[in-house]
Amino acid sequence: MEEPNFNTSESKKEVIKVADIKDVSVNCADCDNVLLKLVRVRQSEEQQKLIVECPFCDGESWITELAGKYFQSPPEGLMIGEMEEEEEEENFFRLTMEIKDA
Ligand SMILES: [Zn+2]
Repeated sequence: MEEPNFNTSESKKEVIKVADIKDVSVNCADCDNVLLKLVRVRQSEEQQKLIVECPFCDGESWITELAGKYFQSPPEGLMIGEMEEEEEEENFFRLTMEIKDA
């Protein structure tokens, strides 16, 4: 009978390294309000592009290219609305933000 090997390096536990952490803000290209905050938690091969629609002026952000794994967090006073993937391009997302009622 084979002994189970508990000493593999295949740990599923995710480790967040400080060097991986990077803050990104996405601003509206028109009115410059901060629309979304992102924190990179891991460097990886994942590539995404993101456009955030602005709830303040009906404009939107520039295309933001993201490499790695990110957590999204809405800035003060905003909520994350819907996220849609663009039909023509993979990993290209369009995110709507909503103004939070006071
Ligand atoms: Zn705007």
